[in-house]
Amino acid sequence: MSKEISVHWLCQACRRVPAAEEVRDDDPLEPYRLCHECANRLRYRALRPIEWFNLAALHGWTKFLLHDDFYDQDGQACQPDVDNYVTEENHAPTLEMCAGSLERLIDYCITRWHLGKEEFEAFKPFVASKVLAAIVDRANADNRHVWETMVRLCANVVGVPAAPWVSAQSDRACRDGSLFIWAEAAAKCLAAPEGLHKTIDALRVFHGRDLQKQMSALSWFRAPAVLDWIEINVPREDVAAVWGQLASLSNLDWSRVQSWLASGRPLSLVALDALASCIPRQGQARILTILNPKLEGCGDRSTIGHALRTYEAKDSAPRVATKCSFIIQHLDELRTE
Ligand SMILES: [Zn+2]
Repeated sequence: MSKEISVHWLCQACRRVPAAEEVRDDDPLEPYRLCHECANRLRYRALRPIEWFNLAALHGWTKFLLHDDFYDQDGQACQPDVDNYVTEENHAPTLEMCAGSLERLIDYCITRWHLGKEEFEAFKPFVASKVLAAIVDRANADNRHVWETMVRLCANVVGVPAAPWVSAQSDRACRDGSLFIWAEAAAKCLAAPEGLHKTIDALRVFHGRDLQKQMSALSWFRAPAVLDWIEINVPREDVAAVWGQLASLSNLDWSRVQSWLASGRPLSLVALDALASCIPRQGQARILTILNPKLEGCGDRSTIGHALRTYEAKDSAPRVATKCSFIIQHLDELRTE
């Protein structure tokens, strides 16, 4: 689906010649404005890397025609539907090439599949107020992927000066299903306990599996108050491992684990999953590898082993035996503080 345009926009992909048409195939509300040549390359999944970069910087890379089945993170087409796909002298810029310009650096971040320390540190030469102004300006474009990237930059680059803007974004985060992304910024930019309280309020509308999906937003706060929230909200049955995962990320201490084991199900199951989350292993949720949860207040691991054997003797469920056996086998690897 496309239509000719009459106003004079520059082609969003090559940024060299005027746009001649709007391509609305994957997002009618936010069309690509392109010259005919770039529009054809977009349709044939054969954009040149710099063209993909320029488009992804405006639209995000999660839209269908730009997504990661069709292009790698550097804009190279993976399955171009043309015979003569050529990329010479049309490479996407590297982080180093973007680092001298705040606008280009933000472009670069929007195009990344994952953001990390290297990207965040590249903002250090820029004044925080200017970074924040540029972020707010980009977020106004009303593109969800771009907005989420801007929130992540507030969390990891701007910090406290971004508090008023981050606070004002909570409704949008709920509306767009981006509570997890927003909560990181809330935890890092807002004065405690505002971010935690707003996140807990936002979770009130969710129940059952929906609550389990959304509640990981609380992980960013690393707060014992989340343990109290778990005690109130954990279901009586079918306790998924994510409850323990969240507990492990909330400054869990040994006295709380003992109390949960003594209280029996469901909190005893949460305690076992929480201890298992403190043991690094392949295939763990990404949030655990980022935040590296530790059990506090228990210097002697043999105490943990003894408590688990005692609990296991009272609860014969296969899930309990499997989990206790795993934790006991890997006690030396269990992170403590
Ligand atoms: Zn073009």
